[in-house]
This record gives sequence, structure tokens and C-alpha cells, in this order.
Amino acid sequence: MRFSKEIKESLTLKYGQLARELKELGHDIISMTVGEPNFKTPSYVVKSVSKYLNEGYTKYSDSQGILPLRVLISKDLNDSYNTNFTPSNVIITPGVKSGIHLALSAILSEGDEVIIMSPYYLSYPPLIKISEYDAKIVDVPFLNDGTIDQQSLKKAFNAKTKCIIVNSPSNPTGKIFTVDEVNFIINLAKKYNTFILTDEIYDKLIFEGFTFESFLGKGLDDLVIYVNGYSKSYAMTGYRLGYVTATNEIIKKMVILQQNINTNPNTFIQYGVMSIYENEPTHIKPYLKELEYRVNLFNEFLQESKLFSGIKPEAGFYYFVDISKSKLTSEEFTEKLINEAKIVVTPGIAFGENFDNYVRFSLAINDESLIKAIKRLKEFEKNFLL
Ligand code: PMP
Repeated sequence: MRFSKEIKESLTLKYGQLARELKELGHDIISMTVGEPNFKTPSYVVKSVSKYLNEGYTKYSDSQGILPLRVLISKDLNDSYNTNFTPSNVIITPGVKSGIHLALSAILSEGDEVIIMSPYYLSYPPLIKISEYDAKIVDVPFLNDGTIDQQSLKKAFNAKTKCIIVNSPSNPTGKIFTVDEVNFIINLAKKYNTFILTDEIYDKLIFEGFTFESFLGKGLDDLVIYVNGYSKSYAMTGYRLGYVTATNEIIKKMVILQQNINTNPNTFIQYGVMSIYENEPTHIKPYLKELEYRVNLFNEFLQESKLFSGIKPEAGFYYFVDISKSKLTSEEFTEKLINEAKIVVTPGIAFGENFDNYVRFSLAINDESLIKAIKRLKEFEKNFLL
């Protein structure tokens, strides 16, 4: 395997690990790095997974993922988006990240170009390069207000463009694509016969007043590779389960890869996750209320700040904060924040080379810690501006 410069340590995981270590050493650290919901997995999922574990569903299973779960996933998507998926269009993977890896490996060849838009989810460049070392990454930064730079995006498409990766709602900005933006990308993909790999992992965490627009059900389903999973909206990061839908041809290739890499995703967890489709997602509403409270609180602080600024997110649990006034690089800033405020964040440089004047705060922490963090940030700012 050839390691390209894009295949590097995940800065979220690096600083997340540092936060854990400092906590273990007795430091009063507030970790605002990793995108891990601080609420509990719904109890029906835990019960169901335990039931299947106790009943011995602990053997190898179908490399494509168990059929009854694929039936439920395809039906759920068909009901939501008016698509025509059958279970053969679905593969279950150990997390969304693994789904992206298998999908990119199935479609990419030497010389292909892959468009991403920065700030992007930091694993996209390494996943592209792990899947195909000789693929070219074309980064089209969003405009300052977080919307698509339509001119530059248009210019980025050409005959070599195999795929565009999109992520709405976005990690790290919490921005949702408008209908026009979705259609703009769909039209370009149609024109150039390009795959749209759409990562919709935050689709259920939409704040009041905003609507989410999926890339599914737009009459382009052969070109759309859809990835989603349970990590964020069901607080199941450690269960490692996600899924991908695509044409049979792509799914077949992904199954061959999965047979040789993972064999199958965890068997009793797949059976347990069927409970998600048999219960109402009643946990989402209270969780969203909680998240919006935190976003508003953090936003109030930013509005008053002389050092920080940012655009209020529309979904999810991140706040991407502009730190240009500090005149520090995002890693220098992160280190200073750890030393002086005992708060750990993710440096913006992780989300694209143009974003070294940003850091990402994860608001997936409890209210008490957030209030404490804001207090410390105010103190940090005061000392900084002295
Ligand atoms: N896509 C995005 C946009 C994410 O933010 C994350 C997690 N931070 C993932 C994928 C990875 O999800 P999973 O844990 O299911 O692999």
C-alpha cells in the first residue's frame, strides 16, 4: 500500500485521545473534539442487541448484511424518498466510514477525479486515497457564507470526474444544502455522468425552521451512492453500523471487498438494529431540543465575543468557529486553548487547507460542561485581548 500525504492521522481522534489522557491524569478537561452524542442509545436497541447476543446470534453472517435488516432499510428509504430499492441494492457495513471506503474502492480507478467541498469531513481525502492512490482530489471550497461556489464547482467538473462527495447537513459547519443547491449538483452529475456519493449521517438532527433535502428520489438513483448509519442519530458510535445503497453492480463489488476485508458486520448488532424500524424514534425530539439550547447558548457567547465569530449551524452538533482575530494557526490555537482553558477542540486545518483560521467545537457535551466551557472561553478571551 502506498501512503499518500493525504493519509494522515485524524486530528479529531488525535485531540480526542489527548483529552482522554489529560482527564485520566486528573486534569479538569472539557473535550469538545469528537462528534459523539452524549445521549444514550434508545433502550429498545440495547435490549434487542442484548437479546440477540444472549440467544447466540454470534456467528458469521451474510457479507452483504443480514437480509431482514436490508429489507427494512430498503423499505424505510422507499417510504421516505419514493425510491425503488430492493434489498439487493443495500449493503450493511461496520459504520458509515467503512461504507464510504468500500463504495469508493468499488468505483474508483487510476486517473479518476473526485470532487469534495471544503470544509469537508476530515476522513474524505484519506478515504479517497486509501481506495485509489492514483485518484485526484479536487477541492472546491464553499463560499464564506457556507453556500456552494457554483462557478467554481461548474469548472471543477470534467470528463475525468468520477464522483462528487457531498455531506448535507455538513460536518463541520452544520449547513444544509438548499433545494437549489441539491438540484445544481444533480444537474452537473447528470451532465458529466458522475456519481454523487451522499453522506447523510446527520439527516435526523435538523433544527426547527430548517428542512432537509436528500439526494435520493430525484430520478438519478443509478448515479447516487447513499450512505447513512446509526452512529449520530441513535447515539451508537461504538456499535459500528452503517449502510450504503447503490446499483446492484456497485453493491456486488462492495460485497466482494467486504467478504475479503470485514467478512460481515457484527451479526447480533445487525439483528438488534432491526428494532429501530419497529419503534418510533421518540428520542430525537428531546435530543434536538437539547442541542438547539446548546447551539443558542454558544451562539449568544459568539455574538458578544471580540475574538471569535461563526455562522449558526442549522443541524447536527458542531459549531465551526472563526479564530482569525487570534492570528494563530488552528493547531497553535488548539494547543493554547488546551493549556490555558483546558478545552480541547479540533483544528480547522483538518477540514481543508483554507480553514487554518477555524476550529470546530463539538456541542455534544452536557449543558453543565458547556456552561463551564463558555465561562472559560470568556476568561481565555479576556487574557488573549489584554
Ligand atoms: N460521515 C460524517 C460526516 C461524520 O461526521 C462521521 C463521524 N464523525 C462519519 C461519517 C463516520 O460515521 P461512523 O462512525 O458511522 O463510521
